[in-house]
Amino acid sequence: MAISDISENALKVLEKRYQGKDEDGNVVESVEQMFRRVSDTIARVDANFDNTADTGKVSDEFFELMTSLRFMPNSPTLMNAGRTLGQLSACFVLPVGDSMEEIFDSVKNAALIHKSGGGTGFSFSRLRQSGASVKSTGGVASGPVSFMKVFNAATEAVKQGGTRRGANMGILRVDHPDILEFIDCKANNSDITNFNISIGITEKFMQAVEEQTDYDLIDPKSGTAVGHLSAVKVFELIVDHAWKNGEPGIIFLDRLNRDNVVPSQGEIESTNPCGEQPLLPYESCNLGSVNLTKMLRRTLTGYEFDFRLLEQTVNEAVHFLDNVIEANNYPLDIIAETTRATRKIGLGVMGWADALLMLEIPYNSEEAIRLADKVMGFINNTGHAASARLAEKRGSFPLFSVSTLREGPAMRNATVTTIAPTGTISMIAGCSSGVEPVFAYAFVRNIMDGTEMVEVNPILMHKLETLGLDKDRALLKRIAREGTIAHIEEIPQEVRDVFVCAHDIRPVDHIRMQAAFQNHTDNAVSKTVNFPKEATRGDVREAYLLAYEEGCKGVTIYRDGSREEQVLNIGEVN
Ligand code: ADP
Repeated sequence: MAISDISENALKVLEKRYQGKDEDGNVVESVEQMFRRVSDTIARVDANFDNTADTGKVSDEFFELMTSLRFMPNSPTLMNAGRTLGQLSACFVLPVGDSMEEIFDSVKNAALIHKSGGGTGFSFSRLRQSGASVKSTGGVASGPVSFMKVFNAATEAVKQGGTRRGANMGILRVDHPDILEFIDCKANNSDITNFNISIGITEKFMQAVEEQTDYDLIDPKSGTAVGHLSAVKVFELIVDHAWKNGEPGIIFLDRLNRDNVVPSQGEIESTNPCGEQPLLPYESCNLGSVNLTKMLRRTLTGYEFDFRLLEQTVNEAVHFLDNVIEANNYPLDIIAETTRATRKIGLGVMGWADALLMLEIPYNSEEAIRLADKVMGFINNTGHAASARLAEKRGSFPLFSVSTLREGPAMRNATVTTIAPTGTISMIAGCSSGVEPVFAYAFVRNIMDGTEMVEVNPILMHKLETLGLDKDRALLKRIAREGTIAHIEEIPQEVRDVFVCAHDIRPVDHIRMQAAFQNHTDNAVSKTVNFPKEATRGDVREAYLLAYEEGCKGVTIYRDGSREEQVLNIGEVN
């Protein structure tokens, strides 16, 4: 079986991080062997449910699913399946209790998870506020932010066994007495660098913003009000900080809990690092993404979605992800127990922007929103039906009978869909990441001998070829410099309308796209709302309120140029 269309870039990523190496760092596993290691390990699980299962055939199916680049599981599955570590999940949430023992247990558990390539989310809301008394020592507590710095330092020290550095999400409820310090804790870009932070917003708070009243700050120990703040002032402070450097983000806690299908197990208080996966304390989740560019088929005039292929892909992917729960070697017994009780999986998409380019539909159009609705609606329904069929064969998730889903058909998985950022797996699949628009259409790459090479988005390049503009070096360089073709008059307007990049799209259109996907997603959607450098605080405020109205579960914004070490600078990539 050949591996289709895998790019040079993808091969580099695979070699660096995914293929097996010996003790001296020599690669000892081919790309084909790597995918076979994963498909064999995940397929073997079928024998646990059916001793007549043809696991060889299932392995072939999973191998083809991945090597056709129709679907990729999250990085830890590709890295660790069939290896000693065997930890396959990207997402974890750990509790942080209000005692030294509990805090440092959590630091230790996070380190174990980071070592295996997973990311961790924490709510620090249970920690008593700074200045509160500590009974056993007669001293005073130093508060959530000071302990976050301990988690941050531990993360820095664990380099994930050569795979990747850890990533964390830190959440504080908006009604925690230390909220002002928390909002400000990443104002300096060099602080707490291994965390994304988000404010846990409540409905009560949003109501107080609307009514312009004060809201109560609650002592986490006693549950009583110990002060109050103006909701509008706190909201403006969050907006101001996000405007400055993109931190903090916000998550709507009551919405996460409205969709908590097992409220008897406690509240959802945090998500994983990139915000797409709300989880209960000690719960983990494995993600996987369908590459939408591979779900299109050619027509006489262009492309269209092939819904039969999409259905087949989703069915195979749900089967794959459910098997991952069994094959997984969990870092802690309690994580194994909690995860197996709900059996959450997170199937999402990548290559959405590229698929729109192939279909010649502008990302910022009504047509794109309607298509998002249709495609994700289809994936969600198909995924749920696949999970229900698995439940008939394998049994429902153990907490099904006490879940909010108990009136409906039995389900194998408490959640089925999540939209991940797909930072690395989209590079392997060679498509745009998650549901994000294309960030820039061309880069200048400096080759070692001092020459420059312009790397252009292949779908745009194909279009330029048909326009006879693909050999125009000055034009290609200009695209690399500007990132966008919006202002290039040699290119026809209707082409410029289709090939929009993240910065050509208004924040409201980013949010509407996020909301369209969120509407059909059990968990949440990873999405950054890009703002131009000149955007005002008022623009950011408006975007937050729109996201709230449109039913998003959270918002992450980024204003161009507002962080020094911006990962991707238009026109300046080495
Ligand atoms: P990938 O493409 O590598 O599978 P994503 O970019 O889709 O990963 O991220 C999915 C989730 O994986 C994140 O929300 C986070 O939980 C986890 N993750 C991503 N990058 C890291 C990292 N460097 N360290 C730890 N966990 C990570």
